[in-house]
Amino acid sequence: MTDFHDFTKIIKDTTPEDKQNGALNTPIYMTSTFSQPDLEHFHRFDYARSGNPTRESAEQTIADLEGAEYGYLFSTGMAAISSVLLTFSAGDHIIVSKHVYGGTYRLFNDILERFDISHDYVDLCDLKAFNRSIKENTKAVYIETPSNPTMDVTDIAAVAKIAHQYGLIVIADNTFMSPYLQKPLSLGADIVVHSATKFLAGHSDLLAGAAATSSKELADKIYFIQNAIGATLGAFDSWLLLRGIKTLGVRLDRSSSSALKLAGWLEKQPQVKKVYYPGLKSDPGHDIQKKQAKSGGAVFSFDLGSQQAVEKFVCNLKIPVFSVSLGGTETIVSYPPKMSHAELSQSDLQKDGIKLGMLRVSVGLEDQDDLLADFKQALEQIKNLTD
Ligand SMILES: *Cc1c(COP(=O)(O)O)cnc(C)c1O
Repeated sequence: MTDFHDFTKIIKDTTPEDKQNGALNTPIYMTSTFSQPDLEHFHRFDYARSGNPTRESAEQTIADLEGAEYGYLFSTGMAAISSVLLTFSAGDHIIVSKHVYGGTYRLFNDILERFDISHDYVDLCDLKAFNRSIKENTKAVYIETPSNPTMDVTDIAAVAKIAHQYGLIVIADNTFMSPYLQKPLSLGADIVVHSATKFLAGHSDLLAGAAATSSKELADKIYFIQNAIGATLGAFDSWLLLRGIKTLGVRLDRSSSSALKLAGWLEKQPQVKKVYYPGLKSDPGHDIQKKQAKSGGAVFSFDLGSQQAVEKFVCNLKIPVFSVSLGGTETIVSYPPKMSHAELSQSDLQKDGIKLGMLRVSVGLEDQDDLLADFKQALEQIKNLTD
């Protein structure tokens, strides 16, 4: 469905043709197994781990939105990432973005290492450092952009260009942007992975993960692991995901514009030490972000200077929920040092630039002026702490 714009594609993909009954939504096939016509033959599906029509409909939607040939859905984002990384073998080496999601960090450090799949964390904003870190047994580079929570932007096309000179597979975690804002495959990535729990599902009501690629060879490997390991997405959650995706574009347009407004306002407040948002002109990643994505997205971080200021500010906020995760309809404020990055030691937090005064905001669909007024009153109450 490559001829349409994203808004049309999103609706066409999630409204498949039901030849039997004309239903406008994909039926939920709550079945673990499928009957066979005879000893020798199967229908289109045989057993639901290997394939389910509802899941397949959602898989095709993800693939189409990412501009991929093949899509796969998993029970969580971590199941998708693990399954993709299990296509590698003992002895392989993978270069990983310096700032990756905590669960991905744990997967590389504590699980893949045990199977002799090694890795190095590299600042992929530094292309020379990336080039230097490529070893003889390096097989892939794993990008997360913008990164969490410092919102560093990696130039996907530039990294892919170098990577392909060495025959590396480029994997990109596109969770923070979603295919509506950024399409890593069109920039040279080979595999896109997602926590579909976040913007794709969009309502904080399910866990899901996705992988997409246009390479038949990589797709076969991913499908083999999906079926062999079996961390697949259930039929009902696949249907919920399809329902959530219908509003992906409108949600992200609105949340991105509110994020830009809030981040731009915060940047001018004396109590705020720094705002991390590639949608802002002042941000070091702005030019690359503008080149490779439709907007700065719905997530930004900012630094209030101290944990004490953060505590007071968060207590005074009336609209956002204070929680882990992102990408819902509600504005979510989280505290990276004690949530997503709780596993890092004090010195690792410092090394990674994760400040004790830092808050991450995933902007939801509430009224922009209400959000701004709420941030304003909460900030006024910490004036004496940040002077
Ligand atoms: C949440 C998240 C994940 C993990 O996804 P789950 O659905 O929670 O398993 C991976 N990458 C990023 C960037 C995330 O934000």
